[in-house]
Amino acid sequence: MFNLILFGPPGSGKGTQSINITNTYNLQHISTGDLLRDEVGRQTPLGVEAKKYMDQGLLVPDEVVIGMISSKIDETPNARGFIFDGFPRTKAQAEALDKLLEFKHTQIHVVLSLEVPEPELVTRLLGRGATSGRSDDNEEVIAKRIKEYHSKTEPVAGYYHNFGKLERVKGDGNIEETFKLLAKHIDKYLQPA
Ligand code: ADP
Repeated sequence: MFNLILFGPPGSGKGTQSINITNTYNLQHISTGDLLRDEVGRQTPLGVEAKKYMDQGLLVPDEVVIGMISSKIDETPNARGFIFDGFPRTKAQAEALDKLLEFKHTQIHVVLSLEVPEPELVTRLLGRGATSGRSDDNEEVIAKRIKEYHSKTEPVAGYYHNFGKLERVKGDGNIEETFKLLAKHIDKYLQPA
């Protein structure tokens, strides 16, 4: 099994690149943002609770997200590997993920961190907001999401750096250029499927 975390701030291109990586390497894509939006759309109890945080640009509580990830991993026991997108977003989530994977006798192999300058992030997110229908892609909520990123999520990069697993990748080029840079790292572990 090969497990990858695609890391980076809101708007850094994690969702887009996850799809490219999934298609090329046949990994199972797990996006906590997508899973949460699905729960919100179906108005499940979890979704109703999560929406309160998401609409304010705040992180959903760790225990909610960790439980969701755990059952998602169990759904595809024979996966070639997982690509985690938008997770872990706190140090507690990173520690929980390590435990879940250890239980499956596997681990995170590499964390690819997409590096994009902040003004470019805001431009991208506002652009997406015009068409996505996402309630959190407006100027006020974007500012809060970036603030949450700096205070709670950025330390996750340090966590993996300490294990020698963090690779920084330039993420401000176009979609194909960025994918090529990511693929260079993945190719060290795995051949395209
Ligand atoms: P983006 O990366 O563009 O901010 P996501 O789709 O990954 O968007 O997440 C949207 C929202 O969903 C976040 O602002 C947060 O409220 C919630 N969320 C997603 N993933 C997590 C997570 N791992 N932990 C806590 N909250 C999360």
